[in-house]
Amino acid sequence: MPHDVLETLTVSVDRRSPEAALLAAPAETLRSGGLVAFSTETVYGLGADALSEAAVARIFEAKGRPADNPLIVHVASVEEIAPLVEEITPLARLLIDAFLPGPLTLVLRRSSIVPSIVTAGLDTVAVRVPSHRVAQALIRMAGVPVAAPSANRSGRPSPTRAEHVLQDLDGRIPWLVDGGPCDVGLESTVVDATGEVPVILRPGAVTAEHIRMATGLDPVDASSFVSADPTAAPRSPGLKYRHYAPRARVLVADGPDDDARADAVLSLAAQEIAAGRRVGLFAGHDTLLSLSCPLVSAVVPRGRIVLSVDWGRTDDALSASAALFDALRRLDDAGAEVIVAQSVDPAGLGAAYRNRLEKAAGGLEGEVQGP
Ligand code: AMP
Ligand code: MG
Repeated sequence: MPHDVLETLTVSVDRRSPEAALLAAPAETLRSGGLVAFSTETVYGLGADALSEAAVARIFEAKGRPADNPLIVHVASVEEIAPLVEEITPLARLLIDAFLPGPLTLVLRRSSIVPSIVTAGLDTVAVRVPSHRVAQALIRMAGVPVAAPSANRSGRPSPTRAEHVLQDLDGRIPWLVDGGPCDVGLESTVVDATGEVPVILRPGAVTAEHIRMATGLDPVDASSFVSADPTAAPRSPGLKYRHYAPRARVLVADGPDDDARADAVLSLAAQEIAAGRRVGLFAGHDTLLSLSCPLVSAVVPRGRIVLSVDWGRTDDALSASAALFDALRRLDDAGAEVIVAQSVDPAGLGAAYRNRLEKAAGGLEGEVQGP
């Protein structure tokens, strides 16, 4: 796709105390309608002035993002949410007090200052206050609300490290603000807070249980029924797209417990190797250790695995989540044709991890955009 070739400048910023002098030029670029990729606690975002239609259009162009997929508007403090929305509902107030700044996005009725290109024509807008100091400092300096989807080419895994952003967008954006690897590594939880009951549109690090504790209400999980009926009017349009997809085919090794999931990794790997395919693995430490046991190595010879990425303790969904997108990219780069990825228990953050893994495996069939 033709695009203006730019030189992408990277600025590395100390995440604990971001230096204002380093952020001045990227902030000025945002203010004047340009694009800046920046680190947040979830994934890297690709930002533009949310109140400028021309600036936001550049995001869709750089990403190759379908126009019906709305963007999240990021602000530096919770006070800056009000002008973007018609009303901060009592439910939204509870969620803001409990979780913001942090990895939670609220969907509320939009105010007239938000251009419809940001919301893909919806009468709601998604808003978030990142807790990452680099993101906060940059947005505060820019002095404008910043629309920012993940800083990947559409359809690719979200970037959790600065180098991922360059893999996808080098030469397409003027600035990359590198604040180090992302802590969470999965995109924010998206909650529709327009009504009385919280509706989870996308699972993330703020879990259903967290929301229940903060609000006293049982959240509705809409992230699954969107996929169950793709013809229904989408509550959250982006959910119909196959996201987070590496080039390799992803097979999810699932089962009722860690042992069963480890067995599934080995049997799927054995099956793919027997079929002559180049296999990469993403799994917990114990699972990968079992590859050296003689009975296993007879069917899953180590030399036939192009790369194994170890996320650490097998029952640690936090580490699995933080490592997932980086692993998918690395396994692709290593030349895997098939990635066998171990699933985790669905409790807590496990729900979000499983959701991303299923999407990477193509569980949600939809228009695949981009490379
Ligand atoms: P991304 O910025 O790539 O993480 O994607 C943002 C996602 O947030 C979209 O794909 C939608 O699923 C969701 N979203 C954004 N705005 C809205 C909205 N107004 N209503 C419902 N969901 C939204
Ligand atoms: Mg995205």
